[in-house]
Amino acid sequence: MRARSHTELDTRPHLDSLETCSSNQNELGFHLRPTSHVSWIKRHQDDMIVTPFAQLLASLKNVRKNFVDLTRIPPEKAKRTSQLNSGQTAPPNFTKMITTAADDSSLSQAVATLEELDWCLEQLETMQTHKSVSDLASLKFKRMLNKELSHFAENNTSGAQISNYLYSTYTDKKEPDVDLSRGLQIDENTMITTSKTLDSSISSATLMGQIAGVHTTTFTIANPVPELGVETPNVDELRCLLDHINDWGLDTFRIEELSGQRPLTVITYRIFQERSLIRTYGIEPHTLISYLLTLEDHYQTVPYHNKAHGADVCQSMHVLLNASALEGVFTELEIMSAIFASAVHDVDHPGVTNQFLINTKSDLALMYNDESVLENHHLAVAFKLLQADERNIFSHLTAKQIKNLRKMVIDMVLATDMSKHMQLLADLKTMVESKKVTGNNIIMLESYDDRIQVLQNMIHCADLSNP
Ligand SMILES: [Zn+2]
Repeated sequence: MRARSHTELDTRPHLDSLETCSSNQNELGFHLRPTSHVSWIKRHQDDMIVTPFAQLLASLKNVRKNFVDLTRIPPEKAKRTSQLNSGQTAPPNFTKMITTAADDSSLSQAVATLEELDWCLEQLETMQTHKSVSDLASLKFKRMLNKELSHFAENNTSGAQISNYLYSTYTDKKEPDVDLSRGLQIDENTMITTSKTLDSSISSATLMGQIAGVHTTTFTIANPVPELGVETPNVDELRCLLDHINDWGLDTFRIEELSGQRPLTVITYRIFQERSLIRTYGIEPHTLISYLLTLEDHYQTVPYHNKAHGADVCQSMHVLLNASALEGVFTELEIMSAIFASAVHDVDHPGVTNQFLINTKSDLALMYNDESVLENHHLAVAFKLLQADERNIFSHLTAKQIKNLRKMVIDMVLATDMSKHMQLLADLKTMVESKKVTGNNIIMLESYDDRIQVLQNMIHCADLSNP
């Protein structure tokens, strides 16, 4: 083997020098290769590479160099050619190469392997280091959506308007990492927003730190609590409908009529009973009804994000959680968090979009610094309403359970921000595909990130699936 030039030495990862503290490294989860180059490492300690991503890149470059040396690929074939310039974003056809290599020689196999390695290297090198792997997938999906929509937009003006709306709703516009100059033009002024004016309770909230829209009403709830949660002359018919709580397509509108405009209360109450959450977590039925009635009253009378929608999403989540594939996957606390998150997910929605609130410089946008404004507000209202003793349904939970529940509910409701759609999709697809490649056909949801990711996608699906 020929001697290394100085430049080659510089590109070599200096992982080896970390070995002196290998016990610490193991705790940090790094996987270090054994070393046989101690001598030159000492000379290069000042430019030691410590971050895992850079180590990975440097190590791969070294593998490439050694591979070229070992296989004696002629220099003209060992040159790296950029695939980005030719616009190629898909990986080379690996299977095809392997077949040609088999009937050719070991050299062509070596060349094919080198090409494959170069593709990997290029993907890694062009990855912007401040972006995560999921951003990469998200960017790809945005490009695909943009391509689809630009075809659609070419046809007529309403097509253009619709594609603008779709693009601005389902992607996070704050990071315009897709070049829209040729395809879509997003115009702030033509953004489609509902024409409804802002509810006065929101626009008049002036004190910072005060949660807008929270008002208190006292209810007279019968003791013991009525069978279906609320007093109604239509008990039999309502019971009949609620017996289908485990089925898709429950008639929420009919339930709304029969329950005296209390769809959210009766449906959520029934789900808590059905799942024995009342017993498991020592929830007082009276407290639960009190919370649900107050929550329901905080849903505004708007076309879409109203209490019937909240009830629908809650019931859809309940059905999704019953899917046979998810049997035994989630804990009781995770299930309760998911049901609770679905029930509260649009509370006090004023019927306008986040973008409208931001563009009109509303107090809410000011409060949440333009980031998932409404979703943050729904959460604040939902947790604020729990603060009164007579509504605190979680009073028998341990401090740790409350902490976990709160984190999960926040993560789930924030995931209902439609601008996070691409990110959610990208994360889920990346997780599924990565596990497929690693050979884990059965998806084990062991980490919090994996579990919450599935729950976030479930609430997002439930939210999208409802009229
Ligand atoms: Zn919703």
